[in-house]
Parts: sequence; structure tokens; C-alpha cells
Amino acid sequence: MTKLNLLVLALLCCGFITSMAQNDKHITVSEEPTDDGVILYIENIGVCPYTVEFDAELTNVRADKALPMSIVVPAGMRMELLRLEPKPNARWGYRYNFNYYMGDAFNARHDGLYVYQLPYEKGASFVVGQGYNGDFSHRGEKALDFVMPVGTPVHAAREGMVIKVRSDSNRGCGSESCRDDGNYLLILHSDGSIANYAHFKHRGVAVKEGEVVAQGQLIGYSGNTGWSSGPHLHFQVYVPGLGNKRNSVATYFRTASSESVLLREKQSYKW
Ligand SMILES: [Zn+2]
Repeated sequence: MTKLNLLVLALLCCGFITSMAQNDKHITVSEEPTDDGVILYIENIGVCPYTVEFDAELTNVRADKALPMSIVVPAGMRMELLRLEPKPNARWGYRYNFNYYMGDAFNARHDGLYVYQLPYEKGASFVVGQGYNGDFSHRGEKALDFVMPVGTPVHAAREGMVIKVRSDSNRGCGSESCRDDGNYLLILHSDGSIANYAHFKHRGVAVKEGEVVAQGQLIGYSGNTGWSSGPHLHFQVYVPGLGNKRNSVATYFRTASSESVLLREKQSYKW
């Protein structure tokens, strides 16, 4: 089969991307014909590792790896994904699809002994309005909502790299219809877990994607964007898992009265 036929039969991919990654075009797959068939390459132009889940429909083609497959592509890396070799004397073709998400779903593990800093200024005190598995919007989620006025400085609870930022929304409401309107940022920790800080005010994020932040560093100003019944900061740490599962985890905090404590709903905390 000639290279011309190969190009005619190869169909474009279709990516299935989760809502939080809709504008994320950091992963691309490209094809290079060879004398024996075709090699697919995958490239990550983002600042963090991505887990990619890839599958293909093959017609009279051998692949050098079993499908479907899941792999991690490190930040900035282009690597060989798959070699395809047509069977002789047969009409052949292939089509593929893939989806991807931030983080290393194979190796991320949360360090349960890590002690987080409360995500606001020393001396300030705020109530946890909704805690783990809260009835309003945290069912099945280990997340914390700190009730605070719009514009309150937000500080990193743990050091890491900023891997996603959104701050262009000025819309929020108390129903799920505003779920995709929240400003937020994600910070990747050294153990592969990811912190989500959410509901920042319009233009209220003070850091950029790719920036490494220290624990306690100012990262933005709280707000009321997205699915939110009143001004607050939503804080959640999750471990990325295969199938784009976000396995949220409980986190210990240092406070003025304790070296290490799990925070409870309706209690106020300062450090
Ligand atoms: Zn929340």
C-alpha cells in the first residue's frame, strides 16, 4: 500500500475532554508514515504530566502494543505512542481516539502525614461553612468551604506548581447551572496530588500556569463565582486516578490550637 492510500484511510482523532479541561489543548497525537506502516507520536506541551487513555479501531493492521492503553506523558515530552503495520494484500485502515487529564494516575499518592497551612493570612479566622461530604455541594467529596468576604487574600496551603488557572468569569449562582462558571486554580504537589482552590473573584488569581509557589504564598483573592451560595473559598485535594477519577482526600492542618487537625463543619479556624 502506498503512502497516499495510507493518508486517505487514516481518520482524524476525536478527543473526549472533561469539562474542566475543555480549553486544554496540551496533548496532541501526530502520525508519521514509514516504509512499514505508520508511527503515532504523542506530545505534551503543558507544564505537568498528563495521563492519556488511548484506543484505536484497526482494520487489517497490527499494533505493537495492546489496546486500549493508558500512559503518562511527562511535561514537554514528545514520545512514540504506537507502531502500526498493515497486513499484506488487504485493504487496511485505522481510527483512534483518546482522552487525557492532568496528573500521573499511575504514581500519584497523597502523603497523609503532610500538614497543610490554612489558606489565608496569619491571624485571620474563618468558619468552615461546608465540610467533608457536605449536603450542599460536597456529597461524596472531601472538600472544605471557608466562608470569607469577596477579596480576601488566599494563600497556598502547600507548595507546588500551578498547573491550571481560570479567572475570567464574573458569574456565580447558588445552583448547579453555574458549575462551569467558577474561577479556580490547581496546584500540583510533589506527591502527585492536586489542590483545587475555587470561586476566586473576577481577575482574582495572582499566579500563572507553570509558576512554582511556596507554602503560604499569596495566590489570589476569594470571590463568589461558579456554583456558590455566598462568598467563600472552596479547597480540595485530590489524587488523579485512571478513568479521570478524582479521588479526594482529607488533609491535616496546623492551627493556632493544634499541630495537626482535621477541620470540621461550622467551626472557625485561625493560625
Ligand atoms: Zn465547596
